[in-house]
Amino acid sequence: MIERHLARMTSPEVAALPKERGALVLPIGALEQHGPHMTVDTDLVFTEMLLDRALALLPDETPVWRLPALPISKSNEHIGYAGTFWLSAATLTAVIMDIARSAQSNGFQRLVLWNCHGGNRALLESVARDVRAETGLLVFSFFPPALAPDPVATPPQEATLGIHAGDWETSLMLALCPARVRMDRLEAFYPRLPDVPLDLEFTGATFAWLTRDLSPTGTFGDATLATAERGEARLAALEPGLAKALGAVTRFAF
Ligand SMILES: [Zn+2]
Repeated sequence: MIERHLARMTSPEVAALPKERGALVLPIGALEQHGPHMTVDTDLVFTEMLLDRALALLPDETPVWRLPALPISKSNEHIGYAGTFWLSAATLTAVIMDIARSAQSNGFQRLVLWNCHGGNRALLESVARDVRAETGLLVFSFFPPALAPDPVATPPQEATLGIHAGDWETSLMLALCPARVRMDRLEAFYPRLPDVPLDLEFTGATFAWLTRDLSPTGTFGDATLATAERGEARLAALEPGLAKALGAVTRFAF
């Protein structure tokens, strides 16, 4: 199997990479509270492990390489809970712009922002366009739940409100790294939203919530639904979904 981690190559090896179609992936994690039952590096574990498992599915001739993960990002919606660390929007924008400039200076032409933290999505969309305009790089943004339809039957309330440390994330972690889950502290909590047609995410009408506005323990969703089997079923859809999307980046052309 070929080396996919740029950090494990020498300078001449990086120089020799076929960059015209090749994609460089910046994995973006987070360090933030995930309720009483999951560790604060949950999104970082996902960004690392899902990516490495997807890269392992790619044929050797598909030119995709990854950078080390950015461990802290824009998590200030979880401000006030122990274990949450964050970069401001201005700082994260500047960090990604600088990494993109470095990628361009290294000769890369395609950059993938592989992000496993929902709170980064709006910012990354905007930064991606700035990177494209300033550097000419082709920029792609991937977020796990959008890569493959959820193959697991999920109650409607969980599907709309289970956005943080609920069934989806807890199941995935039980499948990937069960030592990160405190099975004796599994939490179920659904926020009571104001009586107006607004959602937390994924729809056209949302609002700028902070977790402490809505969830005393930091959980949104029912982690007691989670099992390793549900996680495995989701991984079986997500990993090929990510591999397919990465392959598509290397073939993309206007
Ligand atoms: Zn998370």
